[in-house]
Amino acid sequence: MALAESQEHNTLHFLVIPLGSPGHYIPTIDIAKLLAQHGVKVTIVTTPFNNLRFGSILDQAIESGLPISFLEFPFPYIEFGLPEGCESVDNLPDISLAKKLMEAYTSLQNQVEQYVENLNPRPNCILSDAYLLWAGDTAKKFQIPRITFDGMNCFTQLCNHILSLTKVYENVGELDSFVLPGLPDRIELRRSQLPFAFNSGTQDVKDFHEKLKVSEAEAYGVVINSFQELEQGYADEYQKVKGDKVWCIGPLSLCHKDVSEMVQRGNKSSIDKNDCLDWLDSQEKGSVIYACLGSISRIEPAQLVELALALESSRKPFIWVVRAGPKTEKIEKWIADEGFEERTKDRALLIRGWAPQLLVLSHPAIGGFLTHCGWNSTLEGVCAGVPMVTWPQFQEQFYNEKLVVQVLKIGVSVGAQNVVHWGEEEKSEVIVKSEEFKKAIEVLMKEGEEREERRKRAKEYSKMAYKAIEEGGSSYNNMKRLIQDIKNYTSIS
Ligand code: UDP
Repeated sequence: MALAESQEHNTLHFLVIPLGSPGHYIPTIDIAKLLAQHGVKVTIVTTPFNNLRFGSILDQAIESGLPISFLEFPFPYIEFGLPEGCESVDNLPDISLAKKLMEAYTSLQNQVEQYVENLNPRPNCILSDAYLLWAGDTAKKFQIPRITFDGMNCFTQLCNHILSLTKVYENVGELDSFVLPGLPDRIELRRSQLPFAFNSGTQDVKDFHEKLKVSEAEAYGVVINSFQELEQGYADEYQKVKGDKVWCIGPLSLCHKDVSEMVQRGNKSSIDKNDCLDWLDSQEKGSVIYACLGSISRIEPAQLVELALALESSRKPFIWVVRAGPKTEKIEKWIADEGFEERTKDRALLIRGWAPQLLVLSHPAIGGFLTHCGWNSTLEGVCAGVPMVTWPQFQEQFYNEKLVVQVLKIGVSVGAQNVVHWGEEEKSEVIVKSEEFKKAIEVLMKEGEEREERRKRAKEYSKMAYKAIEEGGSSYNNMKRLIQDIKNYTSIS
């Protein structure tokens, strides 16, 4: 065997397949970068518009010689009745097209399989989004171990596991609360706070979750965007459930140290980096509330008005990332008609579109993060050492709230009692009133021992996060362990 060829045979190769939703593809791209930093050759399956959005964040890494390449396939918009350029959940003009989007993703399977078929040697591992069930079939077909990633932490995985196993929620009324059995902490939830799979989901959704469970159980293992020290007790317990094939390798966002990477992570920032920094620099340390509700939020304008009024009456400087999917125009109209921006301009910065979240959170002026408790955002808040006001909306966000407020004790809840399923926002009225937001913000920001303790704890978790990813840290070691595991599996020395 020629030297180059033998090297090729000895280099571990991961095929990485992200899902088109920012909360999923952002951390998946980070995983690709981390793998490459550990000497693994990585090929990322992508499509044209997604590549434009997230590809550039890897430019520097690739230029510096990291072994990352893209495998771009055309996206079948027309065939699936999607508008051109719609390759990601946050671009969907209409929620009813979500199913079509998933089908369009599934149609990529043939092309991915042709690629794998013609490759010699074949990839050693397929690391794909858990929601792309077909990738599990592809892995089986070619007898390649498949690692899944679904963007959730061990705490959530364990809650879901326990609920599936015990079905404790089945015997309680919609508004009643119950304790999840067998967890290290006493975690109490209402049935109305549970994700789709356990709470009034349609049959389609329930069927999908059943298939997802089977697909995840068949997978070789799972990578988690979290770190062990943050999830004391929960990470170990989940490890037992999965027979050790769990690797906590986060916080993934910390793989971007460079300001320019932070700014372009996930999408093109809607605000100039310098304008954003100038504004933040002009604010007092720890004084600003940053309110951002993730990438796919479609919250009703009437509900957003409550939030806006609370931010205004808090008398704190604030950044509000204004986004409501297709309803953005309505909230913009309210802002204009009410003169909200004018009224608050001395202490508010409204960002329309995509905020450079990592950059904002890492600025010393930020004193609180009002978040929807999406796991990426929550963990980014932890990394920045910023206490949070928690306003969960859907999926596993109510679990994340419990972790932040009750277990880690670095957050204050606005007191949301019901999930507002994604895509069903119109069915809900105003769930959290302006007064409730205001109260939570006040508690979070009120000077005194309580705030200091919360801030101290948040800073400690932040330090632990940085330590976890350093050489010798828990996440660093877990990444090594994962790579060694796949090497052993494929007999690469
Ligand atoms: N994000 C961002 N700017 C925005 C909105 C979101 O950078 O204006 C990023 C955020 O930093 C996080 C991701 O998008 O990495 C959102 O993921 P999360 O799990 O928090 O919520 P989701 O969008 O999936 O509901």
